[in-house]
Amino acid sequence: MALRETNNWSNDTFNVSLATLAAQVFADVLTRVGADKDKFNEFVKSVEKSYNSENPYHNAFHAGDVLQSAYFFTQQQEIKEILSDLDVLTLLFAALVHDIDHPGLSADFLLRIEHNTEAVQELKLNRYFTSHNNRRNFLEHYHVVFACDLLFQEKHNFLQCLNDNDLLLFTGRVTDLILSTDMADHDLHLSEFQKILSTNSDIGKNDIYKLSLMKIIIKACDIGHPAKPLEMHKKWSGLVMNEMQIQSEKQRLFESGQLPLMEHNNDKKINAEFLKLKVIPLFETLSQYVSLEIQVKQLYENLYYWES
Ligand SMILES: [Zn+2]
Repeated sequence: MALRETNNWSNDTFNVSLATLAAQVFADVLTRVGADKDKFNEFVKSVEKSYNSENPYHNAFHAGDVLQSAYFFTQQQEIKEILSDLDVLTLLFAALVHDIDHPGLSADFLLRIEHNTEAVQELKLNRYFTSHNNRRNFLEHYHVVFACDLLFQEKHNFLQCLNDNDLLLFTGRVTDLILSTDMADHDLHLSEFQKILSTNSDIGKNDIYKLSLMKIIIKACDIGHPAKPLEMHKKWSGLVMNEMQIQSEKQRLFESGQLPLMEHNNDKKINAEFLKLKVIPLFETLSQYVSLEIQVKQLYENLYYWES
């Protein structure tokens, strides 16, 4: 895939290697900040390997989709004008690693079986319970810690060019952006950004406002497949459903049917609700800042498909 094609919202990134995509998407900003490209290439190879290929949805292709969407945003005029090189690097990096080593299971499920030693052993989940103790944004904290551990290995550390201040800013904001992808806090982040928009403030001149915008952007990339062409959206949402089905089966094994099993005939309703309640309000809000007419129009077309 050529670089000019990566600046396209509707690009099909299925079956494109994450490392190849990342090398193209990061090329300019790495040059601008003076990063070590050989180390970067080693790093992204390890990132790609660290996504679990057995997950139907939360695998390296989802990371590639989110990364390519994030790149799309960095190329839009309104965004280009206000993001510094360090901001662009932060946003792309967070997109690249935001679900690294995802177990393909929800945080709710993990926290419910935490003390069920048999289940934790059998599902090989021990590592998710040892690296940190945060219950809030449980999985997102895990992704942050995993990604930073990987980055700071000598052979991977392509950011030795950054001074201490910039590195601190970078890691802090990467953490904020990845934590904001937790759907449990979706409405909170959205209303925070809506408040900023309502004051007509100059977002580019206020670091807190800019961070809020970046959170909304990474969230739009993360849950943005419903704003992509219908066939592409159907493919992604089918993979989400598959992953939920696998979790349902594991729940049945270890939770004696405490939770209702997901029924496939509910797929249309689940998708329509997700679009109406989460994705459309997010994109309509963001479209007040960056022009997203094509994406919003596509969202309503896809919603019509699920509702008809
Ligand atoms: Zn994700």
